[in-house]
Amino acid sequence: MKFTQFDLHDQVIKGIEDAGFEKLTPVQEESIPLAIAGKDVAAQAQTGTGKTAAFLISIFSRLLASELKTSNNPRALIMAPTRELVVQICSDAELLGGHTGLRVQAIFGGMDYDKQRQALKDGVDIIVATPGRLIDYFKQRVFAMHRVEMLVIDEADRMFDMGFIKDLRYILRQLPSFEKRQTMLFSATLSPQVMELAYEFMNIAEKVSIEPKQVAAEKVEQILYHVSRREKFALLNGLLKSEEKIERMLLFINTKAEGERLGDLLEANGFSAAVLSGDVPQKKRMRILERFKLGEILYLVATDVASRGIHVDNITHVVNYDLPQDREDYVHRIGRTARAGASGKAISFADEETVYQLPEIEAYIGQPIPSTMPIDEDFCFDYKRVARRKRIPPTVRHKSGERPQRKPGSRPRQRPTKKD
Ligand code: AMP
Repeated sequence: MKFTQFDLHDQVIKGIEDAGFEKLTPVQEESIPLAIAGKDVAAQAQTGTGKTAAFLISIFSRLLASELKTSNNPRALIMAPTRELVVQICSDAELLGGHTGLRVQAIFGGMDYDKQRQALKDGVDIIVATPGRLIDYFKQRVFAMHRVEMLVIDEADRMFDMGFIKDLRYILRQLPSFEKRQTMLFSATLSPQVMELAYEFMNIAEKVSIEPKQVAAEKVEQILYHVSRREKFALLNGLLKSEEKIERMLLFINTKAEGERLGDLLEANGFSAAVLSGDVPQKKRMRILERFKLGEILYLVATDVASRGIHVDNITHVVNYDLPQDREDYVHRIGRTARAGASGKAISFADEETVYQLPEIEAYIGQPIPSTMPIDEDFCFDYKRVARRKRIPPTVRHKSGERPQRKPGSRPRQRPTKKD
């Protein structure tokens, strides 16, 4: 379905044209008509499905359609769990809402305290915020919430994971009651706890479900290597040299320590890399993300938590340097490439510690990940052994046990199972 088939406000259509969108994505096709009709929507949708545009287009359409109130207080509130996500939503809103005249303001912790405060005082139409900083300004009476007509809770499941649920509930209690506002909730999973929140704070929400399987299976070329922990960097190095057209690569690791180590090894071998973990201060994080977007950094190493809200287009490759512990994280991770119609490649390494997660991941995505192994020794070991000189710690291991001494060409053809 095309956007032009919709009865959207001209000013919204102009923004959609500026963004270059023509057809609606599935989550947009299902949620926008409901939202424009004034219904509450609880949508199961991952990042990469076009969910941000789904709620932004709905908000702009509804606010432009309703009587314009002359007030400095916000008419819509979008809650998100991370600062990066807030910044991303705001930049999408600036593009899509560029012709609406609606004022959008980001509110998040870590920086610009007085600047954000002043912007709220000057008056805004739409606030995009993380919970903590918003409560801070609210308690100081910098702004009021009684005029909020629309509320969006983005990545609701992460609000729980990151411990923001108490703050979020506090905010929800300050808003007009659910019959007097419209609410949209987006979450990677509509888990019982997310649905409980929906029942408590929403007005009989219509459920929309975009299966993660579609994200995983359709557009991402997935490939798996069985490799021992000690050989992983050698394999990666070989792949980086042989892979065609790497525009941007996101590499996932399970621990901060492994991230630091991988970042150092990449840099030492001449790859422009940076590491994004919970330890990196906010300003530096944003600089790193900006440089990644601009293409000054090609290889970004990230933990799952730090990667939330990285909305960068043209990530051509995702590498699961460590296979994730959580099957849903696998889908989240590989969904960072092949966004909205583009294609992408997801390369996963299953080593002796993480291979046991493989059956569960494959069951979840409903298909085996095609595996490959023809890596010759030259290919594997052609990298600078800089670890000692650079004081890079040895491979981080999470369990005790001997490391296998296998050579790359002699990997077993059978995947180990838990019983092995
Ligand atoms: P999101 O799921 O909000 O993270 O969006 C993923 C990406 O899809 C973003 O880069 C959007 O700019 C893009 N996008 C959203 N809607 C559309 C659309 N209808 N057509 C093409 N790209 C889109």
